[in-house]
Amino acid sequence: MERTYIMLKPDAVKRKVIGNIISRIESKGYSITSMKMFNLDEAILKDHYSHLIDKPFFPDLVAFMTSGPVIGMIVEGDDVVVGMRNLMGPTKWVEAMPGTIRGDFANSTTENLIHGSDSVENANIEIKRFFG
Ligand code: UDP
Ligand code: MG
Repeated sequence: MERTYIMLKPDAVKRKVIGNIISRIESKGYSITSMKMFNLDEAILKDHYSHLIDKPFFPDLVAFMTSGPVIGMIVEGDDVVVGMRNLMGPTKWVEAMPGTIRGDFANSTTENLIHGSDSVENANIEIKRFFG
């Protein structure tokens, strides 16, 4: 069974839509096998978002991601890595179609509610990073 790392970002917690998002994941048939609420710091974000460190928006991204607690989850299912990316919708909120999590809730590219691993390889790295 494939596994992915999902993280509900601080905006999802503040806006009280975590129940709605978790319900979508369960309705799709995926299983949440681990879940915890915790706070991120800059050091772990430099690892997690290492591909973005040189981008001009990186400081804003760190400020946002440390602005409140997140919810980390391990989600399991057949082809769950690509399946969760489809459920989330694309990174940019203007490209995210209604029916996707970002399409239904996001009105900012930075504050886009949810993280999902982009490959099986990265899923394993991220599960280790956040769940040990
Ligand atoms: N991000 C941003 N501005 C951008 C691109 C990305 O603030 O122009 C943020 C956004 O929160 C995104 C995260 O950086 O979810 C990670 O970017 P990535 O390209 O990995 O997108 P994702 O995998 O989250 O869809
Ligand atoms: Mg990504």
